[in-house]
Amino acid sequence: MEDCIFCKIANGEIGSLIYENDFVAAFDDLNPQAPVHTLIVPKRHIQNIEDLNFEHPEGSCHPGEDAKPEDYCDGKYLKEIFKAIKEVAKIKGVSESGYRIISNCGKDAGQTVMHLHFHLIAGKPLGDKIV
Ligand code: AMP
Ligand code: ZN
Repeated sequence: MEDCIFCKIANGEIGSLIYENDFVAAFDDLNPQAPVHTLIVPKRHIQNIEDLNFEHPEGSCHPGEDAKPEDYCDGKYLKEIFKAIKEVAKIKGVSESGYRIISNCGKDAGQTVMHLHFHLIAGKPLGDKIV
């Protein structure tokens, strides 16, 4: 999507990625809140969790071998996001020590960038939990 900073980063127009595949990208947060603070995003522009569409168009779960990423349903993207979270944890060396995943959705959660993203925060004891 034009004018979306995370679309531009995810598609390699600006910034640098620490992990990517056809569906997702990961890059370090500009304003880190812990020694490790990486954002995992879909390459498709989805605003937030509320914008995820789980009504799969016909065939979009398994569109076939020649399918392009855009032929797949959002469920595929979500699966790839969680696979990427595990990859990023491995790359950052925090799989064993642990990490926290946060996705702010909408106004009351304080979402500031309207492109779905999951914060992976780690690298020190993270202190008081909200939940
Ligand atoms: P949220 O408040 O959940 O919408 O989080 C947005 C996050 O994006 C914040 O932690 C920002 O520091 C981060 N951020 C904003 N712009 C950039 C950028 N250009 N590169 C990396 N991180 C960014
Ligand atoms: Zn976007």
